[in-house]
Amino acid sequence: MPAPHASLILDCVCLIYFDTFHGVKVHTNDFCGHPPWMENSISYINPVGNFTKSDSNNSVLISLFNQHRQFYQSYQPVFTDGSKSLNHVGCAFLTNGHIIGYKLHSFTSVFFSEITAVYFAFKYIDEYAIRKSILYTDSMSLLESLRSSSTRNPLIKEVKNFYRHLLSKGARILFSWVPSHVGITGNELADKSAKSATEFLTRPIVYADVRSAVNQWCHCQWPKKWNMETNNKLHVIKPVLSHWVRKLNRRCDVVLTRLRIGHTRLTHKYLLFAESSPTCSHCGDILTVKHILTDCVAVNRRRLRSTVQQWTGEITKLTAIHSFNWLKNQRRGFETVHGLLKPGGEAAFFFALDSPYYDGMIVTGSNPKFLPYFEVGWKLLINVFVDWIN
Ligand SMILES: [Zn+2]
Repeated sequence: MPAPHASLILDCVCLIYFDTFHGVKVHTNDFCGHPPWMENSISYINPVGNFTKSDSNNSVLISLFNQHRQFYQSYQPVFTDGSKSLNHVGCAFLTNGHIIGYKLHSFTSVFFSEITAVYFAFKYIDEYAIRKSILYTDSMSLLESLRSSSTRNPLIKEVKNFYRHLLSKGARILFSWVPSHVGITGNELADKSAKSATEFLTRPIVYADVRSAVNQWCHCQWPKKWNMETNNKLHVIKPVLSHWVRKLNRRCDVVLTRLRIGHTRLTHKYLLFAESSPTCSHCGDILTVKHILTDCVAVNRRRLRSTVQQWTGEITKLTAIHSFNWLKNQRRGFETVHGLLKPGGEAAFFFALDSPYYDGMIVTGSNPKFLPYFEVGWKLLINVFVDWIN
């Protein structure tokens, strides 16, 4: 059964229908526009300094913002925001009592909705010839992109060009970050307006957003088609599409892949040597990987040697050192150990009930960067255990 968040993602993705792609216009990138050595680096203000949302009371953040506004009271505040939910993408800006919001194409990412809000705020500043203004946004990634001088994002370039144009006309424009959802009125109103905007804006969509939508659509179609391939011999091996867990080395992966697809030298060399297909020396059936691993009754006993059931009720003394800290289902682990013991058998467990060391190890071990090293450790542990048990 897929994890709840996986099914939610699938539901979101499946909202993209093939028809949605008709008429989509992609935003062109002007490679020969403004040369990089003439790029402006746009800095921004952070009115709350080192105070964070998680560590500070909302009233403190609002107070800091109000002090900032006192200081910059000669600058007209312009609040911008973008939002994306399951069924709606929108952007909005608020200034001088005007709230203007637009609904955007469903492919648009939240990042581009934020930029679009800034773009239309600039248009407003231009149209009404506002001399001094501060743009407030809660998108730190947008501000960082504006600050970067090496962006290839066409909408960021467009906004920067517009910014230069406004500066050349004598406008003074500052940028400021504001914390979202702490009760700063302008930010709250812009957010609400972005979420409820109904006027649809027909603007080209940036290539990155279209590519993301196409990827999502393909990933939605793929499992649907694969679920119908029930006669495909590989469907039994991999009924649910996901990445295989990679092993320690390529040799290991090669062997496992050959076993999964059922193509091995033992079972398929007859094709190279123009021989007849091999049969099982035990039972005479056609020799396949599946036959050896799961079907052949003659090797049943050998196959069962590697299972826990083989040792049920066979062990007199069992020691587990630190093993139980790693089990997801510890109750089941204890029950399995109990089942392995002979009547009167003994088991000793050594483990820490609560340890920051293990918490740290779990966090580090789940990091893809360190996972291979942990896998090496596990393999060594398993080998030691197998040696001991034999
Ligand atoms: Zn057989």
